[in-house]
Amino acid sequence: KRSTAEWQSMDAGHYLHPFTDFKDQMERGSRIITRAEGPYIYTSDGQKILDGMSGLWCCNLGYGQQEIADAVAEQLKELPFYNSFFQCAHPPSIELSAKLAEVAAPHMNNVFYTGSGSEANDTVIRMVHRYWDLLGQPERKIFISRHNAYHGSTIGGASLGGMGGMHSQFTRLPYVHHVDQPYWYGEGGDMSPEEFGLKAARSIETKILELGADKVAAFIGEPIQGAGGVIVPPSTYWPEVKRICDQYGILLITDEVICGFGRTGHWFGADYFNVEADLMPFAKGVTNGYQPLGGVMVGDRVADVLKTQGGEFYHGYTYSGHPAACAAALATINILQRDKILEQVRDTKGVYLQEQFATLADHPIVGEARGVGFVGAIELTNDKSARTRFDDNSTAGDLCRAACIENGLVMRAVGDTMIIAPPLTMSTDEIDELVDRARKALDLTAQRLGK
Ligand code: PLP
Repeated sequence: KRSTAEWQSMDAGHYLHPFTDFKDQMERGSRIITRAEGPYIYTSDGQKILDGMSGLWCCNLGYGQQEIADAVAEQLKELPFYNSFFQCAHPPSIELSAKLAEVAAPHMNNVFYTGSGSEANDTVIRMVHRYWDLLGQPERKIFISRHNAYHGSTIGGASLGGMGGMHSQFTRLPYVHHVDQPYWYGEGGDMSPEEFGLKAARSIETKILELGADKVAAFIGEPIQGAGGVIVPPSTYWPEVKRICDQYGILLITDEVICGFGRTGHWFGADYFNVEADLMPFAKGVTNGYQPLGGVMVGDRVADVLKTQGGEFYHGYTYSGHPAACAAALATINILQRDKILEQVRDTKGVYLQEQFATLADHPIVGEARGVGFVGAIELTNDKSARTRFDDNSTAGDLCRAACIENGLVMRAVGDTMIIAPPLTMSTDEIDELVDRARKALDLTAQRLGK
């Protein structure tokens, strides 16, 4: 067994991590996670930490789910791999397709598999372009997305995304345009959330009219922006987005990579907001993070065209519909259904989590606590009524994240927004523990900021 120092030295010597400042990694060393159980992770130096982020928003059922591990192992013994190119298929991928059609809205009856959420969004781009080509409208190429969106790290995903840092480092696809995000706390000024929700939605319409409606292919948005800071849109937002998409005939895509599979107490975020999407990229929670799998749920409007027009769709991945990943997804969905997890998130434990989490809003450095089901955010502020940040280059979020770890809790910092997306299987005692640890971390942060 290696010591933490040995792991850190090997890690710094050879391993380039995603979304990491490599220089900082070398200087400070990585946190080494060696095992996990329930909602807890354990580090190489023996710290037990409550995982308020379900890994990376994916282990929705927590760790130690033996049934999923067994399903994967059994599948690896039976048929470890076969591709799904050229009209091949295997039982787990076929069964999963039928299961996904069962749990998705009635008009969502087909699925295309990928290995990740980023690949799912690349698939969306190609599928949307193919759809309009088949309909004889190849000039419809433009995607409208939102500032501060996150849709993945491939060139396609990062182009659809709207994060400044990602745009400044890489080349982007030329046909993606970005409009307002429905971030009332940060950008709503004196408007009511409802007014602001309409304003943000109407920035899509303004963009469509500016670009020409006959050139716009689709609008894409996360039902609740996740990596952007758990931005829960005002109630007026999604109905207006839907109205606009319908009026101009453009496709509506809800990126369900975070919201899918129970996070809001529904199968998909679109169900929570009662909006009918044409395509829904998903990943993460579909396998409880136990195997890499993503995909795109394809609504009948698009599937009918793809399936009736003929001609090969030149797109796919070696691991599209990997049998072991599909087995993990089937086991995950089985647990979600059998243990009535969505109902608990919607009606009992999710309500409890939001009530308890909302109590953090009374803390002197918290401007707002918000959330839905098992996802939430608190905004750190130096002035509650003005809703301002500590300063432009504020380190409050970083300080708070470190204070959380010191108190045995993983929360993520997005600037000065602290976010949670804990496992849906948490008990009420564990929810209390999460909120208690978050409060202690806020106290420590306030003290370090001299507040
Ligand atoms: N879309 C959304 C909304 C996401 O949050 C993410 C990842 O966090 C992705 C896409 C990309 O998924 P992946 O990291 O599996 O490629």
